[in-house]
Amino acid sequence: MLLNKVNKWLKNTQSCVLCGLHQANALGICDDCMSDLPWSMSCCHQCGLPTSSPVIKICSNCIKQPPSFDATSATFRYVFPIDKLLPSIKYANKTSHLGWLSTLMSQYILSQDKPLPDALVTVPMHPWDEIKRGYNQSSLLANLISKQLKLPAHLSAISKIKRTPHQKELNFIERQQNLINCFRLNEHLPKQVAIVDDVMTTGSTANEISKLLKNNGVETVQIWVLARTPE
Ligand SMILES: [Zn+2]
Ligand SMILES: [Zn+2]
Repeated sequence: MLLNKVNKWLKNTQSCVLCGLHQANALGICDDCMSDLPWSMSCCHQCGLPTSSPVIKICSNCIKQPPSFDATSATFRYVFPIDKLLPSIKYANKTSHLGWLSTLMSQYILSQDKPLPDALVTVPMHPWDEIKRGYNQSSLLANLISKQLKLPAHLSAISKIKRTPHQKELNFIERQQNLINCFRLNEHLPKQVAIVDDVMTTGSTANEISKLLKNNGVETVQIWVLARTPE
C-alpha cells in the first residue's frame, strides 16, 4: 500500500477522478472511464431530444410547435455516470468535475462544425438561491467554455427576478406561467448567442430566455448543455 503510494508520488501519476482505479489522462480521467462516457447519439437539432434515427434532423414536436431557440447541443445523454455527476456538481459542491466536463463539451461543440455564436450567456439563479448554494454552476461552466473557445461570456446579462418552484414539479401550463416575467435582460447582446447550462430538463427555461433575447434584437439562440434529460 505504502509502496504504491510512494511509486505514484515518484511517477507523479494521478488516479482517475471517476473510478480512482487507473492512471488518469491529462483531463484527470482514465481511458476506460473515457470510453464509457455516454456521448450524445442521434437527437433533434433544435430541441436536443433523442430521435429514432440519425436521418431525422428535426423532431415532429419542433415541426408542430418550434421552441424559441434555434438549436441545441447536448454533449452527453443523461445516463450513468452523467446522471450522478451533474446533481453532485449542483448540490454537493463537486464543481471540480466541471474542468474536464467543460473541455469535452468544448471539443464536442467544435466537432459539430457549426458556426460559433458571438457571445455566451448563462441561465441565472435568483440571487437568494445563489447565495444559498454559493455558486451558479451554469456561470462556472460558461466561464470555462468561454476561455476554451475564446468567446466572450456575458455572465450578468440576464437576471432572475422572481423565485420559482422547480420546473419538474409542474405541469406544462404551470411551467409556462411559472416563468412569466421571471427574467430580465441587463445589457445589449450581439446577434448570435448561446445559452450555456449544465442540464436541460423540460426546455421551458431555455425557451423563456430565448424569447427574451429574441424580443431584444438577438437573431439566433443556441442552447449548449452538458446533457439533456429525456422528457
Ligand atoms: Zn476511471
Ligand atoms: Zn425537437
